[in-house]
Amino acid sequence: MAFHPVLFLYHLYERIVIWLFSPKPPTPGAVLRGPKIAIIGAGITGVSSAAHCVGHGCDVVLFEGRTEEYLGGIWARVNKTSGLQIHSVMYRFHPAVHYDSEYPKRDAILAQVRGIWEQYGEFDCCCFGRPCLCETLGG
Ligand SMILES: Cc1cc2nc3c(=O)[nH]c(=O)nc-3n(C[C@H](O)[C@H](O)[C@H](O)COP(=O)(O)OP(=O)(O)OC[C@H]3O[C@@H](n4cnc5c(N)ncnc54)[C@H](O)[C@@H]3O)c2cc1C
Repeated sequence: MAFHPVLFLYHLYERIVIWLFSPKPPTPGAVLRGPKIAIIGAGITGVSSAAHCVGHGCDVVLFEGRTEEYLGGIWARVNKTSGLQIHSVMYRFHPAVHYDSEYPKRDAILAQVRGIWEQYGEFDCCCFGRPCLCETLGG
C-alpha cells in the first residue's frame, strides 16, 4: 500500500467515513422504539435503508419477494465477472461499506451487502417467496 498512495488515501478515506457516519448497530434483541417503517426489497437500496433506519432506532419490517440466494437484488442475479463500471468511491450505499478494490466484482459487492445485513439485522423480515430469505437470514 505504501507504493500506492492513491489507494492508501482511498482506504484512509473509507475508514474516516465509517468512523464518522456509520450509525451504531443496535445491541442484539434491543427494542427499537422509533417510527415503524416498511421497506420493500433486499437489494442494496432496501438493505442499506433498513440498516440506516435500524441504526437510528426505527422499528423496521423489510419485505422481500425472493429467496435467500437473492440477497443483494440484481447483483445476486449476474455472473461473477460482473462488476462496477464507476469507481467504488461513488458506490458507497452505506457508510460501513469497505471495498478492497476500486472496481469490485459481484462477489465483493454481495459480501458487503451481507455484512451490512448481519451487522444491522435487528429488523423483522417478511417475504412472499418460499423458501424464505427472511427465515434463513434472521432479523
Ligand atoms: C453488472 C451490473 C453493473 C452495475 N454497475 C453499476 C455501477 O457501476 N454504478 C451504479 O450506480 N449502478 C450499477 N448497477 C446498477 C444496480 O442495479 C444498482 O446500483 C443497484 O444494485 C440497484 O439496487 P436496488 O436495491 O435499488 O434494486 P435491485 O437490486 O433490483 O433490488 C430490488 C429488490 O427488491 C425485490 N422486489 C422487487 N419488487 C418487490 C415486491 N413487489 N415485493 C417484494 N420484493 C420486491 C427484488 O426481489 C430485489 O431483491 C449495475 C448493475 C449491474 C447488474
